[in-house]
Amino acid sequence: MSPIYDSHCHLDAAEFDPDRDEVLVRARAAGVARQLVPAVDRASWDRIRALCSSEPGLRPAYGLHPMFLDRHQPGHLDELADWLERERPAAVGECGLDFHVEGLDPEAQRRFFQRQLELAREFDLPLVLHARRAVEEVIVSLRRIGGLRGVVHSWSGSEEQARQLFELGFCLGIGGPVTYERARRLRRTVANMPPDFLLLETDAPDQPGADSRGERNEPARLRRVLEVVAELRGQPEAAIAEATTANALRLFG
Ligand code: ZN
Repeated sequence: MSPIYDSHCHLDAAEFDPDRDEVLVRARAAGVARQLVPAVDRASWDRIRALCSSEPGLRPAYGLHPMFLDRHQPGHLDELADWLERERPAAVGECGLDFHVEGLDPEAQRRFFQRQLELAREFDLPLVLHARRAVEEVIVSLRRIGGLRGVVHSWSGSEEQARQLFELGFCLGIGGPVTYERARRLRRTVANMPPDFLLLETDAPDQPGADSRGERNEPARLRRVLEVVAELRGQPEAAIAEATTANALRLFG
């Protein structure tokens, strides 16, 4: 079984507190050899650092997620700069814009996002981006700063937007949503996109696939995402596993 890389897994989430060790055992048994663990708020950084240093194959990303805006303070951005300098994580994130969830002040989101883009540039680190109903603005922001790289996770944009991101050096994170037959646009993008920009992800404990709706998602389920992506592209699973792992290693080191 070829090893695969879960490029987006919230393994530090409280949902995994009761059985994190078993979740990891199942992940390794399913060939998920590596995972990127992105932060959501300041409080998660210490947790993620401890988790990633205790277990081989886990890499941290530090950042401030737009959905948790009410937990962020401007001072956290200065702290983030210190953390990036000291810890040299795999990436900056998860950060971005979310214009779907109600009650998240767009201007405040933009301030946190903008600064995190600058920090990624300053420390020459890739970005793990969240863009919900905000792909257009995220692309404009990336273009404005320039010289950035990373992944837009849980991809949900158009094929044209995907092309613009490839030109900017960004990958697309593909996970549970692709396993739903009704996700026609997403499936078409995955079938046709250049393999060098493809990353697999679970976003566990969120975004379970069609065969585990409503359940807690977990990294072992990345195997199912791999199967569906291979089927859509008409390629052997081993080839997709190899290409996506190489892409993740290139990006996250
Ligand atoms: Zn996430």
